Amino acid sequence: MIEARDVVVTYDGTRALNGVSLSVGDGEFVLLVGPNGSGKTTLVRTFNALVEPDEGAVLVDGTDASGSPVAARTKAGMVFQHPRDQFVAATVGADVAFGPENLGLDRSEIDARVDEALTTVGLDGRRDERIAALSGGEQARVAVAGALAMGADHLVLDEPLAGLDFPARRSVLDHLETLHEAGTSVVVVTHDLRDLVAPADRVVALSEGRMAFDCPPEAALDRLETVDVRDPRC
Ligand code: ADP
Ligand code: MG
Repeated sequence: MIEARDVVVTYDGTRALNGVSLSVGDGEFVLLVGPNGSGKTTLVRTFNALVEPDEGAVLVDGTDASGSPVAARTKAGMVFQHPRDQFVAATVGADVAFGPENLGLDRSEIDARVDEALTTVGLDGRRDERIAALSGGEQARVAVAGALAMGADHLVLDEPLAGLDFPARRSVLDHLETLHEAGTSVVVVTHDLRDLVAPADRVVALSEGRMAFDCPPEAALDRLETVDVRDPRC
């Protein structure tokens, strides 16, 4: 479970988050929406201690994220908006192996995790390919595989679908749904709710650093306009 309690984050004297509380239960699929600048990226970055709350706390599986950033990053895997900015190696296999290598695991365990993670995202047999030569959707899936190979129970994706063409978007969503069905919690920050309403358990909306609403998708649809998100039914 990821639990944010009354989180306040201030940048240069301006409050980006102004007392946000949110919990994501194990295995839940949560969509996080809101206008640009409403604090979505700041909030999800507190989940793995890339951003530290000035007030309040974030607990990942009961452990304070700021106090144990390595544990938080192992449990809550993050996929950024531009996955190419988060790759540390040139090839698919080397990149996915990087996290488990830093956990100090045996080579055989690392290899097994890399194979399993790549199979899960539909990239089995492609370890030796260069990341730079992959499509945007394939790169997004490599980033997801990296989080899975760490053993992440919670996946947090910050606008992972922006800029993907339809088949790539569909492919990443299919893999997210498969992971969700297998018990992984999924938090997706997005402006585009197409195809995401059905798998989602909840829609959480931020506005100016505060929670605007947190409700089931059906109830959220009529309120999307208030947070500048297009109604996917239209
Ligand atoms: P969102 O992801 O919803 O667009 P962000 O969390 O990126 O929102 O930003 C929330 C607010 O914090 C915005 O006003 C933004 O300008 C500000 N902000 C975000 N990151 C920084 C930073 N590193 N330094 C200063 N201000 C920031
Ligand atoms: Mg953002």
